[in-house]
Amino acid sequence: MTPLIPDSSPTWFRWLSRMVLRLGLRRATAVITGIVALSSVLITQGIITVLDRGDRMLAAASATLCSVVLTPLIGAFVLRLVFELERTRQQLTVLATHDDLTGVHNRRHFMAVVQREWDRARRYNMQAALLLIDADHFKRVNDAHGHLCGDELLRAIARVTGEQLRQADVLARFGGEELIVFLPHTDPLGALDVAERIRERVQGLSVPWRNATVATTVSVGVAPLRAELPSLDWMIHEADTALYAAKSDGRNCVRTLPFEASRSGGAFPVSSR
Ligand code: GH3
Ligand code: MG
Ligand code: MG
Repeated sequence: MTPLIPDSSPTWFRWLSRMVLRLGLRRATAVITGIVALSSVLITQGIITVLDRGDRMLAAASATLCSVVLTPLIGAFVLRLVFELERTRQQLTVLATHDDLTGVHNRRHFMAVVQREWDRARRYNMQAALLLIDADHFKRVNDAHGHLCGDELLRAIARVTGEQLRQADVLARFGGEELIVFLPHTDPLGALDVAERIRERVQGLSVPWRNATVATTVSVGVAPLRAELPSLDWMIHEADTALYAAKSDGRNCVRTLPFEASRSGGAFPVSSR
């Protein structure tokens, strides 16, 4: 997957950064000190061999001592810089690709990742489906219990939704109280099954909030990938139309479109909603 924050540093630097992060600062310094000490001893022994003079024991002891004293001093400073840089880069990547509130991916990252998945599914004739999940009457939750309670409930919805998905599925927050899921390698019945499981799990949710228990439901629109679909935006539009049908049918339900109906839909592009 191409990172959204490009890493333009050279390979050796990336390798060093990963090693520092994996080992931690102390162990990385110890490893580098060991490498420098060994190299210094080999170099001094090589020089003695070429010149054919000098005390091998003294040279080895001096090389080791200098390495053990100097490398941690200089190395610890440089490694700390590398460590901090790599940690900041990783934090930035998470910030750029995830939603603050729910911790799931954000819409921008979803569109970038799923566009590639979508292209691949189309090229190789693979099955896939899209779910659009919208919390029902969410404004009432905010009005009755406050925005912070609504936030807590949104987090819980995202969590239980994620629990119903496989590793390869892509979950993101699409907008305010709306989540979106891309299900690769999933046939229409399988997608309806996942959607129904999510609906049931959210229905069973109860979030404790200031001496009360707050609950909600979701409506889900399902759009299977079809050969006739011209773009990912179009597929999202179909899921949105199915979601609208779920809302019209009383909410807390899952709907998908009869395929003919979707062909007449034309509110594009979806990303401008
Ligand atoms: P419907 O069943 O038709 O979807 O009704 P609804 O009230 O959920 O939909 P509506 O579009 O009228 O209102 C969406 C509500 O979601 C209002 C908005 O304040 C709330 N909302 C959106 N984003 C957030 C958020 O990040 N946190 C909280 N607490 N509420 C949010
Ligand atoms: Mg909504
Ligand atoms: Mg809603």
